[in-house]
Order: sequence, then C-alpha cells, then structure tokens
Amino acid sequence: MSKIDTIYIAGYSRCGSTALSMALDQHTDIFNAGELAFLGADYKAEHRACSCGEQYPDCAFWGKLEGHLKELTLPTQFQKAVEDRRGFRALLHSGAFENSEAYGRRMKELFSWLREEANVPVILDASKSARATVGRALALHRLGGQQLGIIHLVRDPCATVRSYIDNGSNWALEGHKAALPLPGLRAAVGWAWANRAVERMVVAAPEIPFVRIRYEDLIEDPKSQLTRVAEKFELDMRPIQAAIADHTPLDGGHSVGGNRTRFAARPFEMKAPDPSPSLPPHHMAVLRLMAGDLMRKYGYSP
Ligand SMILES: [Zn+2]
Repeated sequence: MSKIDTIYIAGYSRCGSTALSMALDQHTDIFNAGELAFLGADYKAEHRACSCGEQYPDCAFWGKLEGHLKELTLPTQFQKAVEDRRGFRALLHSGAFENSEAYGRRMKELFSWLREEANVPVILDASKSARATVGRALALHRLGGQQLGIIHLVRDPCATVRSYIDNGSNWALEGHKAALPLPGLRAAVGWAWANRAVERMVVAAPEIPFVRIRYEDLIEDPKSQLTRVAEKFELDMRPIQAAIADHTPLDGGHSVGGNRTRFAARPFEMKAPDPSPSLPPHHMAVLRLMAGDLMRKYGYSP
C-alpha cells in the first residue's frame, strides 16, 4: 500500500504533463483526473469536453457527478481565492484564513467520491502551478486532507517559450478565451514564476514526498524516471514501465482539461530530446534575468 493517495503534477504549462498523466493512468491503482482544478468551470461550459471526447454530463465517468456537482465542487471565485497567489501567500505564511475550512471539507468529499467511483486508491491531479492553481497542491495537503506526493515536471524553458511563440496559449487554442499579446514573453515570465513557486512550496512543506523530473529525461528514459517515482511514493511502476516498453497505446481516459487530439490513444513516444531551440534575444534576456538560477539548477544552460 502506497503512503500517498494523491499524485499532484506541479510545474508550468506545456511541461509534458499530458504524456506523463496518460502513462500513470495505466496503473490499476491510479485514476488520472487531469486538471481537476477546472472541473467545476469546465462541467458547465458547452465547448469543453472530457478527454474521452464527450461533454461532461454525457461522459461515462463524469456523468455520474450530475446531481452532485453542487456539493462536490466550489464556486470558481471561492476556489480561486484559496488556490491562486493570494491563497498561496496565506498558506505559506499562516495557515488559517477565510473559507479555508469550507474549502477543505469540499475537497475531502470530492476526492472521496473520485476514489469510490473510479475504484482506485490514488487520484492523479495534473492542475500544475500557473497563476490560477499555484496554491492548489499546498491547499490539498494542508486543508484538503490528502496524502500528497508531488511530481515537479520541468521542461527546457526555451522549448516552452518557443511553443508559445509558435502556437499561442492552450486556453486560446481550446477556445477558452481570446489570444493574449506577447505569448512568448508571458511564457518566459510564467515559467520562472511557476517553477519558483514550486521551489517555495517544497521548502514550506518538506514533509510532502517530492520528486523532480525533467521532461527531456522522461521521454528519453521513462523507465528510470518512473523508478524514481516508484521509490519515492512506494508505488509499483513496473506495469507502466512494461506498457511503455511494449508500445501499448495509452488512451486519455476521462480527464479534465482535455481535447481529443492531445488525448488520442497512442504509445508513449520514447525519443532523444530535440536540441534547445533558439529564441529572440529579448526573450532570452527575460529568461536569464528571471530564471537564470533555476535554469542552471535544472540543467538548462541559460
Ligand atoms: Zn469522459
């Protein structure tokens, strides 16, 4: 029996969490709930769908939430006040603040419901650590009664920024909102800010089992990276390692925040990482200024 009951994937967007989540979902003890922080908002949004392709009320898994949605999710503003930077600051410095008790109660109920319906002991929450969810992991640990294990997934910021310059933001791509200006600079600042927040959380809560994985190492040698997760969380990863080695197609299951193309069933793609892409000089300058120390720490030369 593992010592954790919730795996939280922390880090900035486009760090490879979809591939890692789809792999972990193959474990018979793990249910990949995806970006669970957005369940309440996504459920009611007409243009949002579960990773299975169905809208939430029609999905074979999330459809069971119909009728319980009010008891098991929180109004968006209420949840944000605990999980965004305001709540994160309060969690780091004190602990108790307005709404923290109600938040904790609701999260305990939601995670119990998930374990019962999915019939697994471990829930995977891939909400990560950008602005809206930076405090979520600490809130689930301190207020929500979850036995967390954190995987901090980091990726070469040059690749992340390049992806934002070339493609824009996920939320715009998926029709959440209009594209914002300066996506590359926003991503450079966002990468620095989110990963620094994860570093602060680890210092504030050293009792949480924690493992940092570089995306580039994960795709090159998933077996040894998953062995690190197995040892830290006391969770047998051999079935997943075997599925990856056999090129078994991994499907997207029923996870929040999905879109059909990202979650199309496919084997885990093992490959040598691409060389770090070049960036315009002003993007590089922002990265060096804001995140030079973190880049060196994670092995990405600034
Ligand atoms: Zn579904």
